[in-house]
Amino acid sequence: MSFDLSQLTGISIAYLLFLFGCAWVTEKGWIPERFIAHPLTYVLSLGVYAGAWAFFGTIGLAHQFGFVFLAYYLGICGAYLLAPVLLSPILRITRTYQLGSLADIFAFRFRSTWAGTLTTIFMLLAALPLLALQIQAVADTIHIMTMESSQDRLAFGFCLIIMLFAMAFGTRHIATREKHHGLVFAIAMESVIKLVAMLIIGGVILFEVFDGPQGLQQWLDINAEVLTSLHAPLQDGPWRTLLLMFFASAIVMPHMFHMAFNENLNPRHLNAASWGLPLFLLVMSISAPLILWGGLRLETSAVPEYFILGIGLAMESPALSIIAYVGGMSAASGLTIVTTLALSAMIMNHLVLPVYQPPTSINIYRWLKWTKRLLIAAIILTSYGFYRLLKAQQDLTNLAIVAFVATLQFLPGVLATLYWPQANRKGFICGLVTGMTVWFVTMLIPLTGNLDAIDLYWIQISLTSNTWHWATLTSLAANILVFILVSMSSPISREEENAAEACSVQILDRPSRRTVSATSPKEFQERLSQPLGTYTAQREVAQALNDLKMSINERRPYALRRLRDRLEANLSGLMGPSVAQEILNRWLPYEEQADAYITEDINFIENRLEDYHYRLTGLAAELDSLRRYHRRTLQNLPMAVCSLGRDGEILMWNRAMEHTTGISGNNTVGSRLDSIDEPWRSLLSTFVDDSSRHQHKQKLTISGHPHWFNLHKATISESKAETDQGLVILLEDLTDTQMLEAKLIHSERLASIGRLAAGVAHEIGNPLTGVDCLAQELRTLSDDQDTREVAEQILDQTKRISRILHSLINFAHSGQTSESLTIEPVSLYQCSNEATSLLSLRKDNRGIRFVNNCNPDLLVTGDPQKLTQVIINLLSNARDASPENAIVTINTIAWEHSITLEITDNGSGIPEHIRDRLFEPFFTTKEAGKGTGLGLALVYSIIEEHFGTITIQSPVDEQTHRGTRFSISLPRHMADLNQTTLKPASAHRDMEAV
Ligand code: ADP
Ligand code: MG
Repeated sequence: MSFDLSQLTGISIAYLLFLFGCAWVTEKGWIPERFIAHPLTYVLSLGVYAGAWAFFGTIGLAHQFGFVFLAYYLGICGAYLLAPVLLSPILRITRTYQLGSLADIFAFRFRSTWAGTLTTIFMLLAALPLLALQIQAVADTIHIMTMESSQDRLAFGFCLIIMLFAMAFGTRHIATREKHHGLVFAIAMESVIKLVAMLIIGGVILFEVFDGPQGLQQWLDINAEVLTSLHAPLQDGPWRTLLLMFFASAIVMPHMFHMAFNENLNPRHLNAASWGLPLFLLVMSISAPLILWGGLRLETSAVPEYFILGIGLAMESPALSIIAYVGGMSAASGLTIVTTLALSAMIMNHLVLPVYQPPTSINIYRWLKWTKRLLIAAIILTSYGFYRLLKAQQDLTNLAIVAFVATLQFLPGVLATLYWPQANRKGFICGLVTGMTVWFVTMLIPLTGNLDAIDLYWIQISLTSNTWHWATLTSLAANILVFILVSMSSPISREEENAAEACSVQILDRPSRRTVSATSPKEFQERLSQPLGTYTAQREVAQALNDLKMSINERRPYALRRLRDRLEANLSGLMGPSVAQEILNRWLPYEEQADAYITEDINFIENRLEDYHYRLTGLAAELDSLRRYHRRTLQNLPMAVCSLGRDGEILMWNRAMEHTTGISGNNTVGSRLDSIDEPWRSLLSTFVDDSSRHQHKQKLTISGHPHWFNLHKATISESKAETDQGLVILLEDLTDTQMLEAKLIHSERLASIGRLAAGVAHEIGNPLTGVDCLAQELRTLSDDQDTREVAEQILDQTKRISRILHSLINFAHSGQTSESLTIEPVSLYQCSNEATSLLSLRKDNRGIRFVNNCNPDLLVTGDPQKLTQVIINLLSNARDASPENAIVTINTIAWEHSITLEITDNGSGIPEHIRDRLFEPFFTTKEAGKGTGLGLALVYSIIEEHFGTITIQSPVDEQTHRGTRFSISLPRHMADLNQTTLKPASAHRDMEAV
């Protein structure tokens, strides 16, 4: 049975169109997000590992080496089972620093463009046999199925379509750095197809060829040598070598790296892959021995490698053949596409961009996209050329092994990146070159077949095909030895040390705090527009700001450092780490610090710990909870605390500090002390510069109100160096205490004056009564008109004295009577009425009218009599200050818990400079005899007794600069609205203004 070429072309094109379709509908967003983001998709897409060789070649391997073929699966299983210590750290590095390939990692870790370039070149050399293998598999299958010799043309067509696919779906989102969902989904579908094809064929063999498991058992019993041949060579060297090789390939092979790390949507998917991928491969490998035995049983004409095809042909089943063909093509195309993409990115970052950077006038993203497409085309065409060069004379296994041994040379580098911070670039490059040279001479040259007679004895051995594992071990051993020796005997640069720490698993990255020379994101843009062009620079800075959730107005040094790091990572994702580093070091360098003051970036370490804490276990987790506890203690300390680095950068700003200063910690931590708001800036800066450790009662005016603070400071050493000393500052708010103190002094004074007044009044009272009686007697007894008049005047004066005495006694009493305060609902309206009617009885009213606008429904709690006294005092002051015939208004304002009484006049107003002294006893501006200066003092003490407050506004009218308003707030009586019977303020006709 054989197929028509056009038939096969049709099938191939249909299949590849299906692939395009899968990718296209995904990119269009027609596949639901939960499928795309599902771990299964990720695991299946990793199935790209099983390329054409897994599909065809392993059968050949099984035939040749028996169970050794399992090494292909077991190697990668080993790598994925070790995911937590091997793959997760790599994933972390690739994500954090946006490294897209192994070459990127090496260039980043060893801070060397050369490391990247060499890796790229070697990777290219290693991948070419692998790509050629895929093309050859496709060509071979076509040849086997059609028995025609035009397979090269068809294989070329296959290459072209694959090329288009890679160009279309692998070079999207260059600017946004999104993942290639379409590509991933298509590759996952391919894995499903491969798996299903394998299982179908295995099943058909088991049930059709052998008539079920029993038939198979019988056949195996008869042909026992088949089974023993599977077991036999297990002890030999190839087994272990193969295992190691496939183990390494799972990490370093460009297609695996790309799928596992670049297209990873969620780090947790790696956990699923650590068992999912081994399971997938196990299921795939189940069919391999069946296919081998089936092929042997049917005695197909095909070589063991193509048994899977030969079975369909031998059974005369076109469907089975087509399934095998499509399965093989899906295996080949998936691997080719992903490998090509990965290689094109490597070449771009490490061969093209270091040599030529696009002019800034063009759109860099578009340039990158098209260059990448060109590279894809070049790689696929070169692979095709390589395939033609080999003239299809190599079996698949040979090609695969050559490719895998080459990639094995990168394993020492990967392990050193993760676990050996002392490794340096010289060691890496020397080791790699040594290993690759051995590989080149012992494996690649023999492959191309031009060289099979080298005079050296040991190479002669390695050229014989059975001892390839010897060549493998030699190259790897030479590589490792040179790597270690050179690394240990040469120094490592500071830059490299930092990068090593960033990559290392054991060492917690401790970034240092340095200052970026630019001071704002805008300046970042300006500077970067020189190497990148304005459009790209703007877009990149915006992207980085967006990633970090920062605003364009950010000025904090801490934030700018993060921005620079982020830009470096993002640019590295775009153009590779070497170019990104070069651009940033040149255009956005760190400031050179004269005294090399570099300390750890505490903020960053903290933030990162916050992000990572769920991953910490054991001692680390305990230490972290301890850290959190201490941190919380500081944060919630009921006292304002902040700490500063030696350069004045704020490292901590606790809650109480936020509360006291009204400055939020989020925007302050990481900025310099000299960038915070006044008055705190001057307060703290002067204190920091001050030599004394404590400052007492510093007065600050905050929004018009005076505040007092005590300041304390202590030094903290940030690192071991004694000179690196930061400060911790404690801010003690004394305002309340200070106010209390002032009040206490005032009340004290009032009380003592009260006592004095009472004594004086008492002492003067008696003689005054005597004088009064005598004067009255004199008036009645004397006939002399003059004498009567004098007596009248004496009486007048004594009346005045007794009035003053009266108010003194009044004042003295109110100073002591807080216990006798009666508390009841009081209507301010009624109090005001009372007060105005009392005042209007007076003769010296000068036509002043009092207007009572109080709301009769509002009630306060207090002593009606005393409150009436307050109103009288205020009204009489207002009257005294007002011109003739003026109006004084009284009104109330209701608040939820208080009532404010306002007494407004249109008088002279109160000058600023006497306002502080108004409430002092005996302070008066009135002429002698007119005022006692006790009125407001009394008001003050009564209102205080009522837990009320007094505020003064003067002038009321800003234009005429006249008028005074006294506002008194008193606690509201809560039931005032449903209170119906109002208790009238008890009339006290003797009451008089003092
Ligand atoms: P006295 O009225 O005996 O002078 P007070 O304690 O009642 O004492 O008032 C103290 C001072 O406050 C007054 O002398 C006056 O200068 C000023 N004062 C009080 N109320 C007013 C007002 N409504 N307008 C202008 N000045 C006022
Ligand atoms: Mg007065």
